[in-house]
Amino acid sequence: MGIRKVSWNGKRVTVAGLGVSGIPAARVLHGLGAVVTVVNDGDDERSRAQAAALETEGITVRLGDGATLPEGTELIVTTPGWRPDKPLFTAAAEAGVPVWGDVELAWRLRGPDAAPWLAVTGTNGKTTTVRMLASILEAAGLRTAAVGNIGVSLLDAVLGDETYDVLAVELSSYQLHWAPSLRAHSAVVLNLAPDHLDWHGSMEAYAADKGRIYEGNTVACVYNVADKATEDLVREADVEEGCRAVGFTLGTPGPSQLGVVEGILVDRAFVENRQKQAQELAEVADVNPPAPHNIANALAAAALARAFGVEPKAVRDGLRAFRPDPHRIELVEEVEGVTYVDDSKATNTHAAEASLAAYDPIVWIAGGLAKGATFDELVQKSAKRLRGVVLIGADRALVREALARHAPEVPVVDLDRTDTGAMSAAVQEAAGLARPGDTVLLAPACASMDMFANYNKRGEAFADAVRALAATGRA
Ligand code: ADP
Repeated sequence: MGIRKVSWNGKRVTVAGLGVSGIPAARVLHGLGAVVTVVNDGDDERSRAQAAALETEGITVRLGDGATLPEGTELIVTTPGWRPDKPLFTAAAEAGVPVWGDVELAWRLRGPDAAPWLAVTGTNGKTTTVRMLASILEAAGLRTAAVGNIGVSLLDAVLGDETYDVLAVELSSYQLHWAPSLRAHSAVVLNLAPDHLDWHGSMEAYAADKGRIYEGNTVACVYNVADKATEDLVREADVEEGCRAVGFTLGTPGPSQLGVVEGILVDRAFVENRQKQAQELAEVADVNPPAPHNIANALAAAALARAFGVEPKAVRDGLRAFRPDPHRIELVEEVEGVTYVDDSKATNTHAAEASLAAYDPIVWIAGGLAKGATFDELVQKSAKRLRGVVLIGADRALVREALARHAPEVPVVDLDRTDTGAMSAAVQEAAGLARPGDTVLLAPACASMDMFANYNKRGEAFADAVRALAATGRA
């Protein structure tokens, strides 16, 4: 039931955090008649300007104190990034005040004929899978959008004038944590590897939050056959009667699975006779780029589309039309026989492992903010393919120590600088280590914020440095 039926008039709502989701949420709630107070930890120039704009619209903003629960609060709507152990939430729990994230708010504000959600989460591959899914749904002639952390915001998709048949929704573990009543049509957890553990507190808590995506699914819970933890989450979920567990695998699919047979993506789940029948969907070559982890993403997207009733041909056409976003295994340029690839989006070890598996031999550029990760397993698995390594960023010593333990013979250049020219120096060092036929791969396995505003800027700095190198070569 949409909460539009509930009266917002005079309801005292606290919005936790200014920013990309907080500001629109505050405006929407104020527009519905709620009495809104925004609380924010920071009190810098930017927040003051944002606060001033909101205050003129009649929204109260309290800067420099995101910890105290404002008097009379009946509901908190939080920015998903705020950690659950913050004092504000402890106070809310004590006072019996519910806490919703941006996703929960959007879900509750949906109209009575709202489009169903096909939902995607996982440690890695979310954006790619959601974009592939939207491309498939479009190819099927459905009115759709890729929403969530990407493209259209969830609130806009739910409240805007555009009508949709179905939405392809990307959900982070933070968002799922704060979305207790979300019920997707069908959903997938692509994979589960340790990430953001500092936020969630433990791997168990992280997995449990991811697993919420399956709660109340009506048609299919899609899981990764190669990642048992995702299947366990399906088993634990409380779903609607008749909802099925559907696996995807890079191998030959069993009944109720999608998989790959001799270069063809096939469906043995959404066919009349799963025991005997298999439906061809597309060729591996239709997936762009056809790296193993990306074929897995394509199978997951296909499974959700098929759960929604999309025909096989639209799966193929949608995959063919899909173009990856920047900084995700993006070919920058070839210089003197060496290929330079930008996977700046590989911000954790699990993602870096996937891209390191796609090339050989590699000069690897790595390092940045480790977010509590360890690098032993990644280095062990990739050591054979490493021609050399160039390390950058704050936590590079952690990667260096793992290399010393498991790949002592691999040459390592440790760049002890974090200025804006550091990436250019890293690319030059990498060029020095590479031989024709090698790939220089930026797959940092770390977040970027120690040196760059975000992973986009890091990828751009890499690409600029590669182009400069190419220009010197040509000069
Ligand atoms: P997310 O939205 O989950 O961050 P993206 O689709 O933006 O995921 O991809 C992020 C990075 O994760 C890619 O650059 C690639 O290195 C890696 N990646 C993508 N898909 C997978 C997958 N299925 N398994 C492991 N790593 C992946």
